[in-house]
Amino acid sequence: MKIGVLTSGGDAPGMNAAIRAAVRQADALGHEVWGIRRGYEGLLEGDWAPMPSRACANILQRGGTVLHTARCPEFFKPERRAEAAAKLRLAGIGALVVIGGDGSFRAAETLQREHGILCAGIPGTIDNDLPGTERTLGFDTALNTAVEAIDRIRDTASSHGRLFLVEVMGRSSGMLAVHTALACGAEAVLYPESPDDSYGALVARLHANWLRGKRSSIVVVAEGDDLGSAVAVGERLRREHGLDLRVVVLGHIQRGGSPSALDRIWGSRWGAEAVRRLDAGESGFYLGEVAGALAVLPMARVLGAHPVPPDDLGELVDILSR
Ligand code: ADP
Repeated sequence: MKIGVLTSGGDAPGMNAAIRAAVRQADALGHEVWGIRRGYEGLLEGDWAPMPSRACANILQRGGTVLHTARCPEFFKPERRAEAAAKLRLAGIGALVVIGGDGSFRAAETLQREHGILCAGIPGTIDNDLPGTERTLGFDTALNTAVEAIDRIRDTASSHGRLFLVEVMGRSSGMLAVHTALACGAEAVLYPESPDDSYGALVARLHANWLRGKRSSIVVVAEGDDLGSAVAVGERLRREHGLDLRVVVLGHIQRGGSPSALDRIWGSRWGAEAVRRLDAGESGFYLGEVAGALAVLPMARVLGAHPVPPDDLGELVDILSR
């Protein structure tokens, strides 16, 4: 069997571990892997090449994706997907391992349903926002990167007795923000799914902390929060309350860097498992982790509700900031 592997959507540390494992497990089972460059864009263009075991040397510890990635609006068009499926057939590639987020899985689900290309998904996004799995590749690394950055900011915040608003990634999900806030002892966290995400509550919290003698505070702001970006919230706090504050947008620093051990381990497990299941005749699934164990989910599950950060974590940030 010829298996195509692609990475799509936002890059995430751990994607290379999954690529390497898929290639080497396929090799062990006597299958051939073709690396498809730049996600669905490369798929449309037939930008692929055989990927032997040796092509994966020294990539396990590298962030990003050696196959490159892209966002490809053309893939939303049915006629373009039909072209892609025809190209794959012509090349003899009958199965795909898709490493990406929910958009990438939606594309895979459609490709299999419409054209019978056998698809297996590996969750790769720092946002950790896929239904049915408690982990996605890159989340653990991005979380640790954000926490390390905020620890540094904390030093200067406490030295100057200053308020810092730190914006973290996550698109429409608050997973990264809430976990970061808890791990770095933030005074408050603003995130889209919060039951109590009002400007008034934030001001009250900062005021209460001030009265308790706290002179420096860190507020973690999810990039998708309803109140707006950290810059917007900071401007409002300055304007309406005359607060002296600084805003830091962590941005793409959270995306890069060497994957954590956990992201390497799960990338390796999922990459190999995806190929083992394709070898066994299974398809139309993606892999995940539930309660520490490897989980297999139907690809259509990606259309379901996205996970939200547990309420008690947001509350804990609040309680522990006293
Ligand atoms: P992620 O996979 O990280 O969520 P995107 O949402 O940007 O990233 O999706 C990656 C790519 O997958 C898109 O650029 C597009 O090519 C393809 N894609 C996403 N959603 C669909 C869809 N509903 N139908 C077809 N292709 C899609």
